Order: sequence, then structure tokens, then C-alpha cells
Amino acid sequence: MSSAETDLPADERRELLKEVYAQAKVCTRCPELAATRKTVVFGAGNANADLMFVGEAPGASEDEQGVPFVGRAGKLLSTLLEEVGLKRDDVFIANVLKCRPPGNRDPLPVEIDNCQGYLRRQVELIQPTVICTLGNFSTKLLRGDPTGITRLHGQPEVLALGRRAVRLYPIFHPAAALYTPRMLETLREDFMRLPDLLALGAPEQPSLEEVPEYELPEGADAEAEGDAAGTGSVAKGSVANGSPAKGASANGSASGSAEADEADQLGLF
Ligand code: URA
Repeated sequence: MSSAETDLPADERRELLKEVYAQAKVCTRCPELAATRKTVVFGAGNANADLMFVGEAPGASEDEQGVPFVGRAGKLLSTLLEEVGLKRDDVFIANVLKCRPPGNRDPLPVEIDNCQGYLRRQVELIQPTVICTLGNFSTKLLRGDPTGITRLHGQPEVLALGRRAVRLYPIFHPAAALYTPRMLETLREDFMRLPDLLALGAPEQPSLEEVPEYELPEGADAEAEGDAAGTGSVAKGSVANGSPAKGASANGSASGSAEADEADQLGLF
């Protein structure tokens, strides 16, 4: 992300996010996942959200519908959000993997590695102030550390991700809480702290020189070429500088690609 991109207004960042969606939609970096998936579950919600959730990987319902967290765990997530006065439309929900692992097996390290560029671009473009990691996989990936969720849950920390500092807030995965009442209680308690965390606003940002920019995995651009109205790669610095408009409507007009229109129609972001 160039410094100009960091300063882009919400509608322009949203258009860039749609281009990343177009790339992910045709991704074949994980041959098994590409062969067995029904849809690529890129993520859904407010492309200018202050709060972003990152789960593990789509399950069967998500794979069918192309939308994250629509199964039982998703219903619990929606309930917990409502309990703290938030709606799904207020937040952005994504996963570590954009494709369903067959039989809901755990994501493989190589799959996590192949897919992480999409997540990092999502974070760069959405610019959340709080990222709530759900369970072990997203917590370990974004912290770059093997410490597990049982030790970390409910403890926010400021973390530099790409070129931005965010408040990372690890909590239990709602799927784990479905079957363990004690865990549900803990998850609910951790959820209750979200409004106060959001009220803190963005943490102090690092100077742009300090952090290297993250590039999408090699090949991701080429795969989307011709499929994204010739905009497979993000046109860095090609858009005018502007100030970020958090909370402003993110419904900019689509750049003309079929995927951009589809994202609008699906209400993905
Ligand atoms: N579990 C996840 O981690 N993500 C989903 O999208 C659904 C269930």
C-alpha cells in the first residue's frame, strides 16, 4: 500500500477491495480447495468498518452462499453482535481461508500462507481500528506467534499490520462456544468489552517508512487478468489523494467490472 492509498477516501478503497475480490474469486493457488469449493467466500459487510472479524475458513453453508458466518456459528456471532448494539452491516467479516477445506478439516499451513495476502489487503483497504480474531487460526496468523487463544482471549493489544496499527482483540471462535456453555459465557464477556475498545479509536499510527508494504502472492494478479476488467493488479498511487472518511457511506460506484457489480448485488461490501 502506498502512502497515497493509505489516505484514500472510503469509496475509493472500496473499489480497490472489489478488485481484490475479483482476484480471489478465480484463485487457484490451493489446487485441492479450488477443485472442491463451490464459491470463494471473500468476506462481507461494511468496507469502511471500524471493526473487523477474522474467522478460520468457510464451512458448508458459507461455501453454498458465498457469505461468511451464515451457519450456526454465524447465527451466534450475529446474536452476540446485537447484544452489544452492533449489526452485521456495521462490521466486516472475513476468514483466514477464503475457500472451504473439504470436510471442514483444519486449514493447512501452506493454504494459510497462500491466502494471507488477501486478508492483509482487506485489512489495508478497510482500515479497521479493531480486529477481532475468532479462535486460534486467525489469532496466530495475525500475531505471527503460536500462543493459543485460551491464553490470549479478551486481551486487546496494539499490533502493526502492514502499514497500519490496529487494536487486535482475540476471542474464542463462536463454533467452539456452541457446544460448551462455559466458553459461551466467556465469549459473551469478551464481546461486552468491544464497545469500549471501539470507543478508544485508532491507535497511534507508525510512520510509513517503518513498515514494509505487503504484496499479494505472486500469480494472484495474473489469475485475475481479463477477469477484472483489466485491473488485476491494484493501480497503486493512481487515484487522487484524499482524507479517509470513516463512518461515511462506502457505496461508491463500481469501476465497471462484472465482479464489482456482483459484489454490489450480493451486498458483500
Ligand atoms: N467458521 C469460520 O471460521 N468462518 C465461517 O465463515 C464460518 C464458520
